[in-house]
Amino acid sequence: MSPAPALSSALLAAAIAARGFMPTDEGNGLWDAAMEAGVAVPGSPFLEIGSYCGKSSVWLGAAAQASGTVLFALDHHRGSEENQAGWDHHEADLVDPEIGRMDTLPRFRRTLFDAGLEASVVAVVGDSPTVGRFWTMPLALLFIDGGHGSEPAHRDYEQWAPHVAAGGTLCIHDVFPNPADGGRPPYEIYLRALEDGFADRRAVGSLRVLTRTT
Ligand code: SAH
Ligand code: MG
Repeated sequence: MSPAPALSSALLAAAIAARGFMPTDEGNGLWDAAMEAGVAVPGSPFLEIGSYCGKSSVWLGAAAQASGTVLFALDHHRGSEENQAGWDHHEADLVDPEIGRMDTLPRFRRTLFDAGLEASVVAVVGDSPTVGRFWTMPLALLFIDGGHGSEPAHRDYEQWAPHVAAGGTLCIHDVFPNPADGGRPPYEIYLRALEDGFADRRAVGSLRVLTRTT
């Protein structure tokens, strides 16, 4: 496949400015993957599981806009286990003080507004398995970056990967072949995808990009 066109400098700046957990090289890898997905499966949407404050959503939403499709950005916005107080990835200012729970939805909306991508990114606010139970639409691209524990990661893979269209793209974040570098579940679902007829297309840092071949 020929290389995708570059992301505009304004959108790249918006992605870099956004809060979240997406290194710039890996975000650019998402953009490339999504631009290719828009060509391989024209007209079908993209979906990400785990948007947080919308950082990865800027790269994927920009590619959706350029491809004439949309990104469904799925998150309950209450944070993963690893985002809760006392864990490594907790950011205290994202707690709603009136209810004592995390709420990343306001920051997510602001990120997409600032990027000028509100027309191309549709927030789906809910629990991934609940939404997945009713989802039927084939996807040009699926990005898995939700709960990183064993149960949520395997469940997201089992429930959502079947929705990737033939020739479509599966992206998985935080894949660490070496256990010293990070948790196992994203790596485990990457191995399952290879068993299930997805082929490796690209690796950028901990991002894996695969193509559905069957
Ligand atoms: N992609 C983001 C980081 C995602 S962090 C970035 O670029 O910064 C993981 C996110 O997954 C959190 O926002 C959390 O709320 C969400 N999440 C975890 N489990 C979920 C579930 N069961 N349903 C919906 N969202 C979930
Ligand atoms: Mg991640």
